[in-house]
Amino acid sequence: MLEVSRLRKVYGADPQAAPAIDDVTFSVADREFVCILGSSGCGKSTLLRCLSGLIPATSGEILLHGDPVLAPPKDMAFVFQDYSRSLLPWMTVARNVSFPLRYKGVSKEDAQKATEEALEAVGLSGRQKRYPWQLSGGMQQRVAIARALAYRPKILLMDEPFASLDAQTRFDLEDLLLDIWRRFDVTVLFITHDIDEAVYLADRVLVLEAPAKVALDVDIPLPRPRDQLKTKQLPEFAELRTRLFSAIQREPAAL
Ligand code: ADP
Ligand code: MG
Repeated sequence: MLEVSRLRKVYGADPQAAPAIDDVTFSVADREFVCILGSSGCGKSTLLRCLSGLIPATSGEILLHGDPVLAPPKDMAFVFQDYSRSLLPWMTVARNVSFPLRYKGVSKEDAQKATEEALEAVGLSGRQKRYPWQLSGGMQQRVAIARALAYRPKILLMDEPFASLDAQTRFDLEDLLLDIWRRFDVTVLFITHDIDEAVYLADRVLVLEAPAKVALDVDIPLPRPRDQLKTKQLPEFAELRTRLFSAIQREPAAL
């Protein structure tokens, strides 16, 4: 569904400047859950911004369903780390979810229905009339996920969405995301610097080495549904995390 070949990104006008992404090639299959793992500053967010069509790549190619990505594609949705800045404080939870749909030209009734379904999927049915600042960080990030889902995307791009949440909330949202992934038949590309999170969630983990290059592409054949206690106790889980840990350790310091 997504094919990235020889992608390179240099910020600014100087072609001699150090690239943020050097030479990235990978593909993602329909309904696959792929995690991209890399240390801070290695170019993960840059990669995601290029994939989303928000910034142009310097060279290389991105194909979604065979078509080049030159602007944000219709069937792609995003969730970023900074939930407090991604929600509009003067709009209720329901409005935050529905306004992009209305902007896209969806009728009021259809937008309302999609909003209710999406909020139900993230467990926030009763909180439609609240404002984002009345909710905890975890709930705000649920609203951001609902807004992405209401779009009915085919592919969901997430940039360290749970990185600023406490551990228990993060585990809850990881399980919520796996549930949504299964129910909504969506392809997920999930960026994280957390090895356990990557192994727990993914079908496949790509390790990025700075400046972003795919250093390792590892299948995660752990059984599903996954369970925070049982999955993490499996010997295979420990083996995979050790393998990824040593791959990341081998990298030169990113910053
Ligand atoms: P990560 O998300 O893995 O932490 P980023 O993609 O944010 O990494 O950054 C990769 C590199 O690109 C870093 O060296 C960073 O300083 C640089 N960079 C990121 N955004 C910009 C920008 N808008 N302009 C210039 N350099 C940038
Ligand atoms: Mg980043």
